[in-house]
Amino acid sequence: MNNKIQAIRGMNDLLPKDSSLWLSVERIISNLFISYGFKNIRTPIVEKTDTFCRAIGEATDIVEKEMYSWKESNGESLSLRPEGTAGCVRAMIEHNLPREGIQKVFYQGAMFRHERPQKGRYRQFHQVGVEVFGADNAKIDAELMAMTHALWQSLGLKNLTLQVNTLGSSEARANYRSVLVDYFTKSKDQLDEDSLRRLSTNPLRILDSKNKDMQGLINRAPKLMDYLDDESSQHFDEFKNYLEYLNIPYQINTRLVRGLDYYNRTVFEWTTNDLGAQGTICAGGRYDGLVEKMGGKPTPAVGFAIGLERLVLLLEEQKISLSGSPLSIYLMALGDKAQLKSMQIAHDLRASLPGAILYNDITLGSFKSQFKKADKADADYALILGEEELSNNQISVKPLKGQSSQQTMSLDEAINYFKDSTNV
Ligand code: ATP
Ligand code: MG
Repeated sequence: MNNKIQAIRGMNDLLPKDSSLWLSVERIISNLFISYGFKNIRTPIVEKTDTFCRAIGEATDIVEKEMYSWKESNGESLSLRPEGTAGCVRAMIEHNLPREGIQKVFYQGAMFRHERPQKGRYRQFHQVGVEVFGADNAKIDAELMAMTHALWQSLGLKNLTLQVNTLGSSEARANYRSVLVDYFTKSKDQLDEDSLRRLSTNPLRILDSKNKDMQGLINRAPKLMDYLDDESSQHFDEFKNYLEYLNIPYQINTRLVRGLDYYNRTVFEWTTNDLGAQGTICAGGRYDGLVEKMGGKPTPAVGFAIGLERLVLLLEEQKISLSGSPLSIYLMALGDKAQLKSMQIAHDLRASLPGAILYNDITLGSFKSQFKKADKADADYALILGEEELSNNQISVKPLKGQSSQQTMSLDEAINYFKDSTNV
């Protein structure tokens, strides 16, 4: 038996060598969302299973087969969150927040779905998402598009396409649903097993099928656009007008129905062809009925989620590195007195050079071995505290990259030296 300790399939470690890109992405995203007036919300990773079933819908992939659920000793079923909207809606209702006015929130964290792991598809993955509660006009839908568009620009990403569609009101959807059921029932023999099941549970999802053999049938299917109610039609026109005014290119994709049950009116996805099959980076839409369905007061809402693994894969694919390299200094000391003093010097340097990396040597070896460690850490400078420096109240600065020579100076002079260096 292989007893090697191992992580669970589809649940990955983020190792130190890869984490700086993630940190930069997360920082850029939060700063941007905050600048659009969003506030951070953090909800538990575990909720009652029922919260997800009610929010996401029974006839969805997530609830049918992707949730990690278990029973507590009192018989209550709990689940790891497969997405972030259900928890946000639950929190809004529980704390009565929409009563205080429009709520613009963003969240970030791990989500869990029991899927077949592959590139861009994992069992633990991370999303950043935003939700707006209490606004029903198309202006906010468009502002979410402006914000995501600005995000791709600030990350330097290319080849992302915005696809939009409208699902209309729930009545329009219900009408369309019966038209669609008639259409597909007539061609039942061409439906695969999944679609046959969906015909009775969630027929709109058949449009979402990736089965190549069914594409002709799906393309000829009636379009929801032709069954739209006037208000939704007007909302969609306004949304498109805003996008055009903002110069955000988009494609109308009448087959875009989104996996989750709760959407109405505007739905959208940002997709790329650069990542193979897992090309959806960001997805969302309007879900005006959900808060009420979950037991709150009627509250229109709209939101989206970005898959962070896919976003990072795309950055890597497009060779974009965001980290920038901060100035790094390796402080080395020899002898007991110098070791003690190095603690004070490290403290002063860190306070005076925010943003710089200061490695305070902890190997306590010879200068030779400390220099090796400095090279390994890829430090820009060695800062040396030997006996001579110690007795003269000075420190030596040795550039480890480039040709400049070693200089000895006071600590204040060294701090100014680093402040003047182009890296800080
Ligand atoms: P897909 O059709 O790819 O399964 P979805 O419709 O299930 O996506 P959403 O629930 O809308 O996805 O989640 C929003 C985003 O989160 C997706 O567009 C994707 O970027 C990301 N995402 C969803 N599931 C996974 C997963 N298993 N692994 C990694 N990222 C995921
Ligand atoms: Mg999915």
